Amino acid sequence: MNALIQPGAELDLDAFVQLRRDIHQAPELGGDTPLTADLVASRLEAWGYEVHRGIGGHGVVGVLRRGEGGRRLGLRADMDALPMQEKNDFAHASHIPGRMHACGHDGHTAILLAAAWRLTREPRFNGTLNLIFQPDEEGLCGARAMMEDGLFQRFPCDAIFALHNMPGIPVGTAVVQSGPTMASSERVGLHIKGRGGHGAMPELAVDPIPVLASLINAIQTIKSRNLAVEEYAVISIGTVAAGTVYNIIPDDARMLVSVRTDTPATRRKINQRLEEIVRGHEQLFGVEIELEITQLAPALVNSEAETELLRTSLTPLFEPGLVLPRAAKVMGTEDFAWMLTEVPGCYFMLGNGEGEFHGCSVHNPHYDFSDALVRIGSDCWVKLAEDYLA
Ligand SMILES: [Zn+2]
Ligand SMILES: [Zn+2]
Repeated sequence: MNALIQPGAELDLDAFVQLRRDIHQAPELGGDTPLTADLVASRLEAWGYEVHRGIGGHGVVGVLRRGEGGRRLGLRADMDALPMQEKNDFAHASHIPGRMHACGHDGHTAILLAAAWRLTREPRFNGTLNLIFQPDEEGLCGARAMMEDGLFQRFPCDAIFALHNMPGIPVGTAVVQSGPTMASSERVGLHIKGRGGHGAMPELAVDPIPVLASLINAIQTIKSRNLAVEEYAVISIGTVAAGTVYNIIPDDARMLVSVRTDTPATRRKINQRLEEIVRGHEQLFGVEIELEITQLAPALVNSEAETELLRTSLTPLFEPGLVLPRAAKVMGTEDFAWMLTEVPGCYFMLGNGEGEFHGCSVHNPHYDFSDALVRIGSDCWVKLAEDYLA
């Protein structure tokens, strides 16, 4: 691991590029990020931040106050990697088999640390800066764990922002979009309880398999028949399971479904329709069906005022026309959505580059974060802090 970057040192972003590569070599998974959290906390402490460790597990918050201003700004980075084998062979590739920073959270952490350091050297802001480093974004549990541990009660924020790199669009491009930006995600479990019996005597049993087949078809009609064109949703049946051998009617059958939407209203509509379809099938087939809906993350909705403020703040940093509205609809999910349910703010994207290497998709074994974003991203955070806490 590289040495502590001293608070009075010359502005040297290369040190943060090295820091990013150090984090890349030693990925940690899910909520289990003690070394990365310690690296973050020890640097913030060395630079004079008031540091709070162990929030919701390994979450870290660094607080810096300047002047008499009452405004409080939250900036958030994620720290966790993915359980996959890296297939890159450059010097900073993962040292740990089966673990890889394939989503660029190593870069997001380095960007926020670079901004943290620069904001102690160029403290042209007036108010409170809360820098939030969260574990377990990929598992969609880290943000909630920190919130359940009192994140916004202990460190109140008037607005909160986060960024993610985006392969496939050029470095030097930002995507800033108000309103629904990322999808909600829920896991829906259905358990059909019939009555098993001999395959030769179906009249003595209550067969759950025709019910399963009928449910598969009925669920397809939610998107095609119940939602309007502008209501975005993806409903995918991921598993169905029933029975053992050809001549036994099983007792029960199960199904797991993934539901993604981009607004709470569409989500409510889908869940209501699921409920109606399930209760209808109970009546029609004389079975009992357990319906279990688990919300993994809500839709990510950027608030209008904070998005506009961010766009205005970032525009001078980019070439004309390169702060873009949304590029394409994504139905991926982001844990930061939980934080935006309590505090208004904006989640935006920075182009990670195009072509075979830096254009390679996140969660791919050949992905790597583009080091050019350490400067661009920290420019964004420093400028936003100066503008929001003016
Ligand atoms: Zn990811
Ligand atoms: Zn990510």
